[in-house]
This record gives sequence, C-alpha cells and structure tokens, in this order.
Amino acid sequence: MADCELCGVARPTLCPVKVKDPGVLAAYPAGTWRGINEECLNSCHKANLERTPANGKKCDLCGIRNAPLFQVKIEVPIFQEPYHREVNKALCESCFEACEDTIKRREAEKEESHHH
Ligand SMILES: [Zn+2]
Ligand SMILES: [Zn+2]
Repeated sequence: MADCELCGVARPTLCPVKVKDPGVLAAYPAGTWRGINEECLNSCHKANLERTPANGKKCDLCGIRNAPLFQVKIEVPIFQEPYHREVNKALCESCFEACEDTIKRREAEKEESHHH
C-alpha cells in the first residue's frame, strides 16, 4: 500500500506523476515521481481546466515556491457523514502538466491492453 501525496488515502497502486521538486532538482534534473490516486488525478485534471488562482505559499505536490498556484479541490474520505470532506490544495502549472502526461500515458496503456 502507498499513500496518495494529496489526500493521504492508501491504495495498492497509485498513479505516478513526474514532478520537478526544486529541492532535489539538482540531483534529479528529469524530475522525481509522486504517487497520487486516480480520484486526485481527476481532480487535478479538472483544476487544470478551471485554473482558479490559489494563494498558497508553495505547490502541494512538488514544493516549488514563488510560482503561480492554482486551486485543486480534493475529496478526502472520512468515516462519518457525508463521508468525505473537501480540502483545497494548491498546485503549480508544471505539476498540472505532469498530471496531464500521466493521464495520457494511462489512456495509451488502456488502448494497448484493449487491442491485445
Ligand atoms: Zn488522493
Ligand atoms: Zn508543483
């Protein structure tokens, strides 16, 4: 099991998103992987289309500071009604692009398995 980087939910498999974490960019110039679950990946995709400016200090996925941030509404499951609560996260543009790449890669993989 692994925990989603955004909502903290544990899943057997997560969707890998390649982000440019400024803290380790010198060591990993191509980026590092963050695992988020499918629900959060979809939330990021929606947020990327809406582009609502957020006033966070740093990106919740890669940790970059002093970059324009956008609001992402994440649904975190809880054990009482209404069984989820909405949490606002702030993501940078480069992480949105990384999420879109992951979505495209997943769709390509689905296509693949469909044909075989
Ligand atoms: Zn999540
Ligand atoms: Zn970011």
